[in-house]
Amino acid sequence: PVAEVYEFPLTIRHLLDGVVAKTGDRKIVYRDQSSYGYGEFVERIGRLASLLENAGATQGMTVAVMDWDSHRYLEAYFAVPMFGAVLQTVNIRLPAAQIAYTLQHAKAEIMIVHRDFFPMVEAILPTLPDVKAVIAIMDGDAGALPEWAIGEYEALSAEASPDFPFQDFDENAVATTSYTTGTTGNPKGVCFTHRQLVLHTLAAVAPFGASTGAPSMGYDDVYMPLTPMFHVHAWGAPYMATLLGLKQVYPGRYEPELICRLRMDHHITYSHCVPTILEMVLRAAEQIGADLTGWKMTIGGAALTKALCAKARQLGMEVGAGYGMSETAPMIAKAFSPTGQPPASEDEILSMLTASGIPTPMVSARIVDEDMNDVPHDGTTRGELVLRAPWLTRCYTGDTAASKALWRGGWMHTQDIATIDALGQIRIRDRLKDVIKSGGEWIDSIQLEELVASADGVAEAAVVAIPDAKWGERPLAVVVAQPGTALTLEAVNRPVEAAIAEGAITRYAKLDRYELIDQLPRTSVGKIDKKVLRARFDKGQP
Ligand code: ADP
Repeated sequence: PVAEVYEFPLTIRHLLDGVVAKTGDRKIVYRDQSSYGYGEFVERIGRLASLLENAGATQGMTVAVMDWDSHRYLEAYFAVPMFGAVLQTVNIRLPAAQIAYTLQHAKAEIMIVHRDFFPMVEAILPTLPDVKAVIAIMDGDAGALPEWAIGEYEALSAEASPDFPFQDFDENAVATTSYTTGTTGNPKGVCFTHRQLVLHTLAAVAPFGASTGAPSMGYDDVYMPLTPMFHVHAWGAPYMATLLGLKQVYPGRYEPELICRLRMDHHITYSHCVPTILEMVLRAAEQIGADLTGWKMTIGGAALTKALCAKARQLGMEVGAGYGMSETAPMIAKAFSPTGQPPASEDEILSMLTASGIPTPMVSARIVDEDMNDVPHDGTTRGELVLRAPWLTRCYTGDTAASKALWRGGWMHTQDIATIDALGQIRIRDRLKDVIKSGGEWIDSIQLEELVASADGVAEAAVVAIPDAKWGERPLAVVVAQPGTALTLEAVNRPVEAAIAEGAITRYAKLDRYELIDQLPRTSVGKIDKKVLRARFDKGQP
């Protein structure tokens, strides 16, 4: 070397460099319970790291968090990896046995647990021999601490030093681990390194699409997550918001009215959620007459339908889709107009905003056939979406077979069926395991669902494949009717037949059967649970 150079590794602590100086009096708010500035935030991160050390944490150890969306969770997003430990974001909506499985599998040794989960943790603790210490979050409740906890979060951090001597270390150290939502079998573990999360954060803050009506986070936004913080780091947005030094509002347990009130009181301008939560927010806003103008919302995790997009726009919200998955940290693509200009008609705008989008910087995405040949960029030829990016999980922890299926030929296989058009816009058409093949032809379940949902009298719809002796498989629509309507097969089929007449969907899509249901079953993150629907209706028996 010609000089004394220091080049720091891409570790999460550097996302905080200079943050206090940039943020003025911007606050980090928790419900209507507490708020503090970035100076105190950084101090509390130091306290949490000291507290973890006092509790016996060592580098590489897994620290699991079970909390609603809170300022404490944000502190853990930083303190745990900055300490050199691995943050496990526990999916608190899974059944207790699956939660126990993920904690055992990740070898969690320290747990930070909100009081709402005390009964569950008490029940599973005997099955968790690795756990050495549990830190209790009382969240303002003066009740007694459980005897298996070493102390209370606030009390312990008040005693701990704010000056933790954070060090630099290898940027390839694992920072976080979480589990897929377990739609099939046991949840699978993914993990991300410091370098991956830092690069993900930098790429995801690139404000593409801001000029074309697509939602994106910017320096003047006020941020509130509406994707749980256990669900792929709330899609990375808390790291982005902290890097930008935004005012951030954490809503705790999701309560529609409180969410609308926080939105109004704090002038929230940027959030993100799955379609189910968007529907919930729109319903609550209509009920209380909340104004949604100026609220940008990225929708991911499942397809954003044109109908839902249009409804949110009518209420003043700026919505647009993003695409990602647990395995991809998760940001891969977002919807925006690649020309830099919004399209001319409202229908084209809806089409642009509901496409799964254009890849984020540093993402290579290909749509390929079974031999890994690229399909034509014509917007109609289907293939599997395969990916390369600096932030894809390298494996499923401890599962060689599944990891080999995930990574093949140097590309990560998403098992999502997609098309790509001449402008590079990707549209997810189906999941490989949800595809319906009837009479040798593929029927896109996402498209068919959207058509059925637009039928008069239909509130919500899901379409699944049902085995059929003659056709191989046939689509079955499972429908929630709008209150007070008597549906008929003819009415349900009307938009489908119109689309067939226009050549927009194959004639095999015409339904010969539908079933009514009171409520569609949902997964732990609010997606329609097709596994449950298939099991329920498979035998032709509701
Ligand atoms: P799970 O696999 O249990 O649903 P994930 O949250 O990892 O849990 O889901 C990722 C999947 O969600 C993707 O593989 C894709 O099928 C679906 N998805 C995500 N974003 C979109 C989108 N914008 N449009 C359609 N599907 C999406």
